Amino acid sequence: MNFSHSVFLKHIAQTTGHPFLIDVERAEGLYLYSPDGKRYMDLISGVGVSNIGHRHPYVVNAIKEQLDKHLHVMVYGEFVQSSPNELAEKLTKLLPDNLNCCYFTNSGTEANEGALKLAKRYTGRTEIITCRRSYHGSTHGSLSVSGNEVKKYAFRPLLPEVRFIDFNSITDLDNITTKTACVIIETIQGDAGVRIPSAKYMQALRAKCNETGTLLIFDEIQTGIGRTGKLFAFEHFDVVPDILTSAKALGGGLPIGTFVSSYEIMQCLTHNPMLGHITTFGGNPVCCAAALATLNVIEDEGLLDNVDGKGLLFEQLLQHERIKEIRRKGLLFAFEFETSEEVAFIVQECLKNGVICFWFLSCPNSFRIAPPINISNDEIQEACKIIIDAINQLDNHH
Ligand code: PMP
Repeated sequence: MNFSHSVFLKHIAQTTGHPFLIDVERAEGLYLYSPDGKRYMDLISGVGVSNIGHRHPYVVNAIKEQLDKHLHVMVYGEFVQSSPNELAEKLTKLLPDNLNCCYFTNSGTEANEGALKLAKRYTGRTEIITCRRSYHGSTHGSLSVSGNEVKKYAFRPLLPEVRFIDFNSITDLDNITTKTACVIIETIQGDAGVRIPSAKYMQALRAKCNETGTLLIFDEIQTGIGRTGKLFAFEHFDVVPDILTSAKALGGGLPIGTFVSSYEIMQCLTHNPMLGHITTFGGNPVCCAAALATLNVIEDEGLLDNVDGKGLLFEQLLQHERIKEIRRKGLLFAFEFETSEEVAFIVQECLKNGVICFWFLSCPNSFRIAPPINISNDEIQEACKIIIDAINQLDNHH
């Protein structure tokens, strides 16, 4: 084992017994480069982050410009800074009218924490409804509303009054009552292996929340920022949430999240108690500059227009009898196989041949791809050839 790996394994806290251990020296567009000259196609975008590729020059430039003005100057919410101002103005312009007020956080899970607190405070209710097999983050509140029991049992007690319903089940919506503060839901379940609900379900969910005075939170941390061919996936279903959460790709490679709601709802964080949700670094000016640049790139380069076409090309090129099912929206995919061993083999084989695919947290017999949405058709062809070769290798190993 080389020296840097032993430092990594000893001094960087580990979360699995089998990390990927790829040495990264630099990254550009679709590619990661190792010090030994090896090149990898990043087909998972750093898990949902590099939606416009690594180090998009426009984003890098925006970061550099902000670096020369100022870095952190004050905790959240006190000083007026042009970078978060411009981001909030841009993002809310791209969203439906009621989503007109942004709270910036440092991560996805923090955005969800803020959203849950906001819903409890606004409604004065305590019950939270969420879905089985969901993933909303790893801090206590987000973990409490996540559906994967295996990841939770060691950390109880968690939040009380959290009730679980089946994703995409219209009958289960009857559990939503006038006691329910909010429903938190992924618009497409990501880590459950890309589960796409029907528009009818999403509309029935919206109607039930309206009827009971329950706030509807859409977690678009994985599905947002162009991933599915719309800026946010809720646009596919013709429903609008009361609170939207975003993170991951929003910062174009820098850490930022947000929960967005109406001015009226957000106002309740200012009293009873004052400072109802606070953070030191939320709205960091460099991260906000990167996020604004990312939104501008998506718009200026017309990137949303090609997402579905590129997704279709992947789907056409990745036909194979070993694949049991392909679940896809835009450029968010799950490829399902008979067993998790097949999936593990394919992911490792692709890695050897310079293509990065990845697992899901709660769907062991599928692997994911979610490439940068500006991937070229030639790059798609090349990547698919390597994936198909890996699948063909299965016969030699099973
Ligand atoms: N919600 C969803 C749907 C996610 O996919 C993730 C991250 N995988 C999170 C929340 C948590 O985001 P973060 O890792 O930035 O805390």
